[in-house]
Amino acid sequence: MAIAADATKSSDVVDELTAWLEENWDPDLTVGEWWERLGLEGWAAPSLPENAYGKGLSRNDAVRVQEAIARFGALGPPSGLSVLLAAPTIATHGTQEQIDLFVREIVTGQKAWCQLFSEPGAGSDLAGLTTRAVADGDEWIVNGQKVWTSGGHVADLGMVLARTNWDVPKHQGITWFALDMHQPGVEVRPLREMTGRALFTEVFMNDARVGDGAIIGGRNNGWAVANTTLMYERAGLGAGGGGSEGGAVPGTIARQLGKRAGDLVPAAGRRTRRRGGESSTGTTKLLMELAKGTGADADPTIRQGLAHLYTLGELGRFNSLRVKAARAAGTEVPGMANVSKLAMSDIVRLSRDLGLQIVGPFGMLHAYDEKERAALDAATGKPFLPAVTEMALFAQAPPIYGGTDQIQRNINGERVLGLPKEPNEDKTRPFSELPKNT
Ligand SMILES: Cc1cc2nc3c(=O)[nH]c(=O)nc-3n(C[C@H](O)[C@H](O)[C@H](O)COP(=O)(O)OP(=O)(O)OC[C@H]3O[C@@H](n4cnc5c(N)ncnc54)[C@H](O)[C@@H]3O)c2cc1C
Repeated sequence: MAIAADATKSSDVVDELTAWLEENWDPDLTVGEWWERLGLEGWAAPSLPENAYGKGLSRNDAVRVQEAIARFGALGPPSGLSVLLAAPTIATHGTQEQIDLFVREIVTGQKAWCQLFSEPGAGSDLAGLTTRAVADGDEWIVNGQKVWTSGGHVADLGMVLARTNWDVPKHQGITWFALDMHQPGVEVRPLREMTGRALFTEVFMNDARVGDGAIIGGRNNGWAVANTTLMYERAGLGAGGGGSEGGAVPGTIARQLGKRAGDLVPAAGRRTRRRGGESSTGTTKLLMELAKGTGADADPTIRQGLAHLYTLGELGRFNSLRVKAARAAGTEVPGMANVSKLAMSDIVRLSRDLGLQIVGPFGMLHAYDEKERAALDAATGKPFLPAVTEMALFAQAPPIYGGTDQIQRNINGERVLGLPKEPNEDKTRPFSELPKNT
């Protein structure tokens, strides 16, 4: 019943959107003008609540909205960590004034954000972070280093976690700030990945400044706020989300806001690439076609692997429907965001292994740029090869980012199944007294 009722609602939503697009989409607008129309009308991030430039839609309906915009042939909304993480976090914990400043800039694509959580000594143990913010009048002075910051080089603002009280247990002394990245105290350095790309960075803060008004969710309450960010990260990544690389790039650094919107619409049929690679359905299709093309589909182990991959994708789809039905009934399926993220790890590992099995020894050749890609195409006659090797090299990332597989299992073990935690004094002893790696 719940699913049927929701299906009616979502087709209404798509009809309403299509009518709106017919009235409003104009390829001659600039990207900035178009995103302002889309965002202020609630279509850029429709799963946000109505007081935060959204329409309060379910995640599934929000995906349908995105698909409908693409089908219509209009430029899609701004994407990336701003929309995926910063906007829902601020919508949940920010004041209306903060929502009207920060979320407005996000849904209209004016500003891009990065996530300044992980540090060289604090990844899985995020609450052990040592970036320090010290009050100075109605401002804060921030010092410390962050690492693995996706999109740091194109970010206008950062969701920075900093320690504001060292004399309380570690989870209680953290504050979540909206940090302006355009200031002399912030230095962003690229980190080259083994794929050849540099999608992430390390960020150094030396006497960077941030105002009291940029604290989201209250001083020393950053752990609760960070958990909201992480919950959206797990749910988004488990659903195959992440920074879309198709369409236009939001923010001031990418310099796309003044371009003609119609020129940046991805060509029909061209899928947008995501931080987690292709969606699992897209990957399964790609690998099936590849196996058919090379004759590898005659190999029973490859056939079995493809069937396994397809099954994992379907299980993910059914789980989303379970979550949706549970929400419609006013309940939750505990631990499902973590389960979905773990499933995504299995999917990317299996895709990597199958892809490399199908292409055989050619999988050892990887093109690091367009020029090499053309040379490799010419030498091997296998234009799909870069997609396979890229997927194989990137497959190490999703089981790590957004919390590693082991951490997802710990969370579900402790918080969902109620298993005993490892004994430690984290919750009772002041952070300043805890032993640390130096
Ligand atoms: C592609 C990519 C993009 C990223 N983007 C961002 C970003 O934009 N912003 C950001 O802040 N961070 C980002 N990260 C960082 C990411 O969140 C961390 O890498 C991750 O949380 C793991 O932390 P770590 O690298 O310090 O590993 P560690 O925490 O040092 O872990 C090392 C190993 O020990 C295991 N381990 C650690 N603790 C436990 C435990 N208690 N029980 C069992 N096993 C344990 C881990 O599972 C892992 O296998 C990104 C990472 C990647 C790979």
